[in-house]
Amino acid sequence: MRSLIVSDIHANLEAFQSVINDAHDRGGFDQIWQLGDLVGYGPDPVACIDLLREHDHVGVAGNHDLAAVGRLSLEAFNMYASAAAQWTTTQLTDDHVEYLRGLPLRMETNDFTGVHGSPRDPVWEYVVSAATATANFRHFTTRRCLVGHSHLPFVCRPDGDSATFLDFPVDSPIQLGEGQLIINPGSVGQPRDGVPTASYSIYDSDEGTITHRRAEYDIPGTQQKMKTRGLPRYLIDRLPHGR
Ligand code: ZN
Repeated sequence: MRSLIVSDIHANLEAFQSVINDAHDRGGFDQIWQLGDLVGYGPDPVACIDLLREHDHVGVAGNHDLAAVGRLSLEAFNMYASAAAQWTTTQLTDDHVEYLRGLPLRMETNDFTGVHGSPRDPVWEYVVSAATATANFRHFTTRRCLVGHSHLPFVCRPDGDSATFLDFPVDSPIQLGEGQLIINPGSVGQPRDGVPTASYSIYDSDEGTITHRRAEYDIPGTQQKMKTRGLPRYLIDRLPHGR
């Protein structure tokens, strides 16, 4: 079985569609695993939810999904995220609100735990340091844990009393092995690792591997839509930089 692992799609339809096309062209997939922040920042929240729902999928809610449906206060968001969340709220139909409200904060599938932030704090915690990763290895019982939220792709394993972040190079499958791992597929819709292309991963259960991949998408097209929708300039300008 092959799973397409995506996180932080952020209502970027061009990026999400490119990821799906790229995955189809390179061996296909059986199911999508979605790690939260389906909406927020980008211009196409409804179309992204619809595209996801056309596929067999499982998924969790991220902080932006919760904010868009009133399950989280906007006070904790910066002004750009807050403005985008308020605009997103005006776009969602009752059906889309119900879908987002129904997303769990945590899922378990095929020896993977999936959360948006961290298994200790699925809504807010960023796993970006060895100390945070080390603390979080105690908070899941499957062998592997998938996270998003930081928009930074990585693979992390326990290392004695600490944790080590390994390289997650593009297009080279990583053997998952028997030990615990925390894996972030990066962001589909707003990458922040300095690479503007949409980031995703493929898990192949037969091979026991996970592979980091990137897909090019129409960044100017997405930017133009964001302008038309009146979304914050700062969010539009960052996309070509992958920051
Ligand atoms: Zn996000």
